[in-house]
Amino acid sequence: EVILAVEDLTASVDGVEILKGVNLEIKAGEVHAIMGQNGSGKSTFSKVLAGHPQYEVTGGKIAFLGQDLLELEAEDRARSGIFLAFQYPLEIPGVSNADFLRTSYNSLQKHKGLPELDILDFDDLVQERLEVVKMNPSFLSRSVNEGFSGGEKKRNEILQMAILDPKLAILDETDSGLDIDALKIVANGVNQLSSPDNASIVITHYQRLLNYIVPDYVHIMSAGKIAITGGKELAVQLEERGYDWITEKETAEV
Ligand code: ADP
Ligand code: MG
Ligand code: MG
Repeated sequence: EVILAVEDLTASVDGVEILKGVNLEIKAGEVHAIMGQNGSGKSTFSKVLAGHPQYEVTGGKIAFLGQDLLELEAEDRARSGIFLAFQYPLEIPGVSNADFLRTSYNSLQKHKGLPELDILDFDDLVQERLEVVKMNPSFLSRSVNEGFSGGEKKRNEILQMAILDPKLAILDETDSGLDIDALKIVANGVNQLSSPDNASIVITHYQRLLNYIVPDYVHIMSAGKIAITGGKELAVQLEERGYDWITEKETAEV
């Protein structure tokens, strides 16, 4: 089953072309890592997939589960099973984490034509998923991300992911600023949630996270394109050689 098929995708922000022809196919059960230097377009790509309104798709196609994704608004993309964990998670003062999670969950249930859960039944589900991220239940009654440390915000995102159970999870630099324990929890969460029915895109600048999440494919983005695709050894190679040789390779090819 093909989960995501991206063909010759170009996109711009504020009139500046950032994505310059991205091609990518992701099948069910796969974990894809996207690496690349700062400014290469990784976050732009994740935001375009999620349907962020600031990003304009100027060409190409994106099919998600065989459906034209570009026809859907951001909200409908989320409802149909795309989950984007942000590099900088939002704080929502005055809304409890538990209420936020339940509202998001019930909105998906409704979309799938499944019953919504009341507070008590939802609490059973949350308690079970808290185990995945080893999060203290006291975080449920606090405002969403307000006053959370960097590591706590990331765990909270993995908790959201564990509850929403997406078809395609996109983690954009979910590892940045994490200490090694938090990093392992994020990685463990992703690994536990991976199944033959879903897929993930893990975006990271560093190889470190990929010591714990073993990707099926590693793609290196450079200047708005996927410049090189390989297996997990590509990440190790990058760690040893840095990113410069990719730019050199591209220049040599031109
Ligand atoms: P990455 O996530 O790989 O670090 P980004 O996708 O965030 O890269 O950025 C890719 C390029 O797009 C960068 O050169 C960045 O400066 C540019 N960019 C991002 N947002 C905007 C914007 N709002 N206006 C103009 N350029 C932008
Ligand atoms: Mg960046
Ligand atoms: Mg980024």
